Amino acid sequence: MKKAFLILCIGLISFLYFDIGLSQAQNKGLTQKLSRGHFIIYHDNAELADKFSWRLEYYYSRILRHFGVVHFRPWESENKCLVYLFKTKEDYVKNSGCQEWSAACAHCRPPFSLSAYEGAVTTRSLLEGTLPHELTHLLFHKLMGKQKIPLWLDEGLAQYEEKDTKKRFERKRFIKKALREDEYIKLKQLFQMDSYPEDERENWLFYCQSESVVTYLKEEYLPSFFTKFLIYTKKGKSADDILKHVYQRKLPQGTEDLERKWKKYVELKY
Ligand SMILES: [Zn+2]
Repeated sequence: MKKAFLILCIGLISFLYFDIGLSQAQNKGLTQKLSRGHFIIYHDNAELADKFSWRLEYYYSRILRHFGVVHFRPWESENKCLVYLFKTKEDYVKNSGCQEWSAACAHCRPPFSLSAYEGAVTTRSLLEGTLPHELTHLLFHKLMGKQKIPLWLDEGLAQYEEKDTKKRFERKRFIKKALREDEYIKLKQLFQMDSYPEDERENWLFYCQSESVVTYLKEEYLPSFFTKFLIYTKKGKSADDILKHVYQRKLPQGTEDLERKWKKYVELKY
């Protein structure tokens, strides 16, 4: 009897939870809901929401595979990630709090959500660039929980997941030039940055370097090293300490060795 009562209560709470979700979406002008896999999409275009949901699932699996953290499979049950797919750009800007220049943006605090608008979600730049980028932010923040998030790693990972080859090429060209001219951010400083540079060139440099260092660590060593790097970051360890510990044979001097080897890698491969 007690068990039946408990099940009834859980059912009622779940119903209220979803109902609140839908009524909040209706406040944003969206009337339909699609629940699939790890996402709930609030929308006004069933065909588009359906297509978009498969794309979200594809990136979800891909990003988690790259993280490689066993048992980290968020949003599997009722607490799915919320997605708001607005009809127009005006609705998107008005209801999401996102910047006007953006095509989609992530809200990386509970309840985790992603906002976009219909005109943008069919474009290549969103599907291959912005979407994997923003979804990586969401998943990385979810993984890190309350731990302080290193900015370089957050943006480095997000860019690593982008499939936009033109942008990748531009970043490579820029970083190679910056290293040759010795006008780059020293890694010790990069790892400690907790705000975005205001200067336009510095800002671009910050993004390019963050992605380049993540790519180097991910692709030049065992994938399990990078997974350990993420796990120790979640435990609050500094990048230098993690490098010395996880990559001890390859980078015994930590950041110092990484900077030397990463520069050589850029010179040879970019
Ligand atoms: Zn970003």
